Amino acid sequence: MWLSKAQVVTLLFALTAASFGLLALTLLGISRGRRRLALYAVLALGVAVFLGAPFLFEGALRQRVETGLALSLPLVVAGLLVDLSRGARQTRAFLFAASSVLVLGALAELAARRQVLVVAPVVPPLGIGFLLFTAMLLPRVAEQERRLFTRATTDPLTGLLNRAAFEDRAQAELARAGRTGRSLALSMLDLDHFKTFNDRFGHPAGDAALTAVARAVAQTIRGLDAAGRYGGEEFIVLFVEADAEAATHALERIRAAVAALGPPRIAQRITVSAGVAMHQGLFEKTSLKSLVSRADAALYAAKKAGRDRVVVESVPEPATPADVRYR
Ligand code: GH3
Ligand code: MG
Ligand code: MG
Repeated sequence: MWLSKAQVVTLLFALTAASFGLLALTLLGISRGRRRLALYAVLALGVAVFLGAPFLFEGALRQRVETGLALSLPLVVAGLLVDLSRGARQTRAFLFAASSVLVLGALAELAARRQVLVVAPVVPPLGIGFLLFTAMLLPRVAEQERRLFTRATTDPLTGLLNRAAFEDRAQAELARAGRTGRSLALSMLDLDHFKTFNDRFGHPAGDAALTAVARAVAQTIRGLDAAGRYGGEEFIVLFVEADAEAATHALERIRAAVAALGPPRIAQRITVSAGVAMHQGLFEKTSLKSLVSRADAALYAAKKAGRDRVVVESVPEPATPADVRYR
């Protein structure tokens, strides 16, 4: 190999230094662009001197310069790799942990070759320190990932799924229903005369009412069902493996729970209307979009019929494969 063992060891050491440096820069919050600029600058300088060293220096000095520069070169390359990998924090933390282990070997090797002054006694505590630090860091990273995921999928006011997350879930359930043949129900819910509620009691009271309704929905549905906030004061619920009767039953319980909200916590009695569309699994092909618009049409019918009620779409249910229809 064209690199001496000492140089390989130095490279390992440099890799560690690079990830530590990158971690420090990341923690300091230096922008990605500047970080990369700094890394490229050091890279160019490192390459220039590394290549020039054999002509510029001699003997022991040359060896030291080479070792020193071998350190800067992979440092920057590793830094760039990590940076360009667009890795999640978890990836960076993993690289950090991996290089922590590498540095143990590298430092021990260097100490054994007496290329680094009095390093040997420092190695074990340093290594343990690195590993402990990494062990402490990983849960924090995982927690941060979890927070980001929650923020990306949850409606901040009500804690229900946001629309995008609900749609992902509903698509998956539609596909599953297509495989298993089980029916599912999709329901759109809309609070009745909510504009008047806001006008009378103010938006903060309106927000509190929305949160209370969302809680009533979440507490009523089963664990396998999904509820989301579709828009302002509109909610959407997916009942999996449920027929129209089961969905209506659940929605009536939601309606009763919402109607039971009221003074003193909520300034006025609130009611909700719901429309339901059914999907028959194997016997039917449908898109989420058409299911939603059918549920919406049923909701409109519920509003028109006087509000505070549940309406299931009045489409005859196909009973056999021969009845398969494309809506
Ligand atoms: P309807 O019975 O026909 O549904 O009457 P409505 O007044 O509820 O009509 P609509 O569904 O169009 O009402 C939307 C109102 O919901 C408008 C707005 O004041 C209120 N709203 C929407 N989003 C929010 C929100 O995040 N917070 C609060 N406080 N109010 C909201
Ligand atoms: Mg409304
Ligand atoms: Mg509305």
